[in-house]
Amino acid sequence: MAGIMQMDVLSPDAYVLQTDEVSYIEVQTTDGGLGIYPGHATMVAALAQAPLKYRDGSNNTHYVFVDGGFLEIKENKATILSTAAEAADAIDAARAKAALERAQAKIDNPPADVDMAEVIGALKRAQGRLKTLELAGKAH
Ligand code: ATP
Repeated sequence: MAGIMQMDVLSPDAYVLQTDEVSYIEVQTTDGGLGIYPGHATMVAALAQAPLKYRDGSNNTHYVFVDGGFLEIKENKATILSTAAEAADAIDAARAKAALERAQAKIDNPPADVDMAEVIGALKRAQGRLKTLELAGKAH
């Protein structure tokens, strides 16, 4: 059907989202922002730790946090595979704020055995979750 595509967002923990009615998707790839309309050519892209935006069949906008991973577009279906992903409604703001503060404290005062790459990953996840809530208009 013209104007509509399918989208699945999957993580090892859950089928985060499965929908047959998406009219537009916007993701942050490692090369920058990408807007996808139905009928898009087959492609694969690596994703940044960032909010994903999509519009449903009724033109309502939704946001999902995606912790990096991959996007595949094939046969009018977008599949997003990520180590973690949450729809804005499922994000716990207090938990993300606490994670952000923990990561920031380790950056400010690094413990001797710190794995800085892991700390920066945690910081970006927390920032991405809070940004997703902000875009969705949910106070935090
Ligand atoms: P934390 O330190 O709070 O556990 P984290 O970034 O280390 O945060 P992840 O490893 O990314 O957590 O995720 C572990 C699981 O918890 C995943 O299923 C993820 O979807 C979920 N999760 C993590 N943080 C949140 C949050 N703020 N709100 C909702 N779900 C979350």
